[in-house]
Amino acid sequence: MSFDIQKIREDFPILKRRVNGMPLVYLDNAATSQKPQQVIDCIVDYYSNYNANIHRGVHSLSQEATDAYEKARKILQLHFNAANAHEVLFNSGTTEGINLVASGFTNLLHKGDEIIVSALEHHSNIVPWQMLCERTGATLKVIPMNEDGTLQMDVFHSLLNSNTKLVFVNHISNALGIINPIKEIIDAAHKVGAGVLIDGAQACSHVKADMQALDVDFYVTSAHKMCGPTGVGMLYMKEAWGKKLPPYQGGGEMIATVTFEKTTYAEMPHKFEAGTPNISGGIAFGAAVDYLNAIGFDTIKKQEEALLQYATEQLLSIEGLKIYGTSEDKTSVISFNVGEIHPYDIGTILDKLGIAVRTGHHCAQPIMDFYRIPGTVRASFAFYNTLEEVDVLVAGVKKATMMLR
Ligand SMILES: *Cc1c(COP(=O)(O)O)cnc(C)c1O
Repeated sequence: MSFDIQKIREDFPILKRRVNGMPLVYLDNAATSQKPQQVIDCIVDYYSNYNANIHRGVHSLSQEATDAYEKARKILQLHFNAANAHEVLFNSGTTEGINLVASGFTNLLHKGDEIIVSALEHHSNIVPWQMLCERTGATLKVIPMNEDGTLQMDVFHSLLNSNTKLVFVNHISNALGIINPIKEIIDAAHKVGAGVLIDGAQACSHVKADMQALDVDFYVTSAHKMCGPTGVGMLYMKEAWGKKLPPYQGGGEMIATVTFEKTTYAEMPHKFEAGTPNISGGIAFGAAVDYLNAIGFDTIKKQEEALLQYATEQLLSIEGLKIYGTSEDKTSVISFNVGEIHPYDIGTILDKLGIAVRTGHHCAQPIMDFYRIPGTVRASFAFYNTLEEVDVLVAGVKKATMMLR
């Protein structure tokens, strides 16, 4: 491998841990990534040296905290190539970002309107839209999936019409790792005048998403899947939508003036950022993005492709092992089952061996229903994983299979 993997691993203190007496093999990166020392230090530094509320105080600490927080917003703007820093909204994560947009559409949708979701979504990109349909009388349409985990794009195109108001699809599926053709989806939706929300929670640790090139309306992600802390995320919102959508929550920070007769709202981003935010989280989100860019997304991609290819080959050598999501366009996520063995049983044995994988429906029950399975074992790799760890996984699955068959 072309880069110094041992040096990278040194950045992540948790990777030195032992679990159940065995060296930790962390392969649950699609649920959350581990954090490098640089990000941990950033949080400690904030609370140790300049903790203060932002945007309000004239005192020096408040200024320092505000500057650091706004610098993080700028880092995200540049990373995601948003046209304006105020289109980058901080919130608590992907789930909140989606709920903010769904809530904002309450008065913009009416009976007869249609919104489109894909069959590959995380529950957090399904349920808020179902709730929106209940509030507005709009209808939810679904883009079905193929056996290989791709979307039936011909059906998608046939679903679009002048009643379509919104389309929401994930950039990369968390359950299967499939990369969706989001540019094609955005362009086609715009042709009928519909807005598009892309759920980038699973994508942003693997690829650099370009807001202007995509011409996307809304793009949501969570810091914790990108080596940042939990409880903070980004909602990119195109400026024009920021004027159309009402505020999400009322409170401090989101107002321009308040009297009991009438309150006027602040402009973006503050309009959508009521209350004291997760200040250290926002600053550390910026540090995490800096960390990933210092390694480089090309390097990350190469490393993860090598892991995916090797792990796929090795796992498929196990008799009865079936991988779900076999399209070529995928990232380093392998969802599998072995024969009729319940995924939970395999996961439990792997844990005894120090190997962390996820088992279950991965918050994407419709995909499991499609394959008629209760769930899968999901191994998801990050750039700090090694080929040796793949060997440990494969030996572990073999052992579990032998014990359970
Ligand atoms: C993780 C994930 C979510 C949910 O993210 P939260 O950080 O829990 O809000 C949504 N969609 C996808 C595709 C995900 O991978």
